[in-house]
Amino acid sequence: MELGDQVKAYEQQIIRWRRDLHQIPEVGLYLPKTAAYVAGELKMMGIPHRENVGGSGIVALIEGNTPGKTIALRADMDALAIREETELAYASTTENMHACGHDAHTAMLLGAARVLKDNQHLLKGNVKLLFQAAEEGPGGAKLMLEEGAFENPKVEAVLGLHTGAVGGNIQNGQVGVCFGKMMAAMDRFVIKVIGKGCHGAYPEKGVDPIVMAAQIITALQTLVSRELQATEPAVVTVGKIHGGTAFNIIPDAVEFEGTVRSTDYQVREWLAKRIGDLTESIAHGMRGEVEYEFFYGYPPLVNDPNFTREFLQSAKKVVAEEDIVEVKIPVMGGEDMAYFLEQVPGTYFFLGSIMKLEDVQYPHHNSRFMLDESVFATGTSLLVQGAMDWLENN
Ligand SMILES: [Zn+2]
Ligand SMILES: [Zn+2]
Repeated sequence: MELGDQVKAYEQQIIRWRRDLHQIPEVGLYLPKTAAYVAGELKMMGIPHRENVGGSGIVALIEGNTPGKTIALRADMDALAIREETELAYASTTENMHACGHDAHTAMLLGAARVLKDNQHLLKGNVKLLFQAAEEGPGGAKLMLEEGAFENPKVEAVLGLHTGAVGGNIQNGQVGVCFGKMMAAMDRFVIKVIGKGCHGAYPEKGVDPIVMAAQIITALQTLVSRELQATEPAVVTVGKIHGGTAFNIIPDAVEFEGTVRSTDYQVREWLAKRIGDLTESIAHGMRGEVEYEFFYGYPPLVNDPNFTREFLQSAKKVVAEEDIVEVKIPVMGGEDMAYFLEQVPGTYFFLGSIMKLEDVQYPHHNSRFMLDESVFATGTSLLVQGAMDWLENN
């Protein structure tokens, strides 16, 4: 039987897995119910696995009959702290919701596990399955790596996907591939502007941190608009600001924080430095002081062009060529799959899957977000085909 038909035979099962997981969404690094569910299914399939790798992460291994390399397939399992408002029959039974589609990723990977297990005798090399916690934060991928997820046997390539509408104009069932920089680093900065408090009627007696903060926040926008090449993707957003207690008092300090997005490692370092330098210069120019902290989050997600070219050939066996779309402009959201892709060549791809509710297509992280289940089998096929072809050709 063709791989696609083999996957099709498990389509209803994949949908059932997803619906079960959809009802028990959990948030963060510890997902006891979700992980127990996945581990239970792997056990029933007779697939050996290690639990609690990076919080509730699971590493499973399917060893082929013929020795060869090892490729990892990755799915995230965590949900969001949003109360679901879809009224689906299988809606969440908790305060949380799978509003990003990670339940589908997990179900698709379980489907891949099932089909790969059936084809174990044909496998050259091994497939490692990574079921990851905390993609939405604080990040499970890095912890899994630190806890040896890529060792024994050593992983030499990695493949993963995001479903839904992350990829922008990618329609249902279409595959978005990218040959390089695909998603942004998501870093955070915290700035404390320190002045000297006084009566609002006598500003000359103090140093006003609110006016300084206003200058700094406006100036930070010029890093992207005036100092960086116009074609280089980057974002500086101040999302939170706090200062002052009353309308007629100049406070001692103002604190604000924001997010920084970039897709290039050098631009990332440059922004980390320039935000601090510019802030400090303005504050000093206005007789104030600053405390500046930069927190590195997920790195940029960069696909390996050669691996992606190989994957493209596999994808063509699964979907029609016109349904494979090249993602030419990076997405400024982040993904901790980036940590896995920092270690070994591989690719992350988008799989369009969106269900409208009363004619409205709700975005990711929305309480009415829904997925089109008819796409899940395609996701499983892409993972299985991609893994088997890579093992065969490498
Ligand atoms: Zn998300
Ligand atoms: Zn997501």
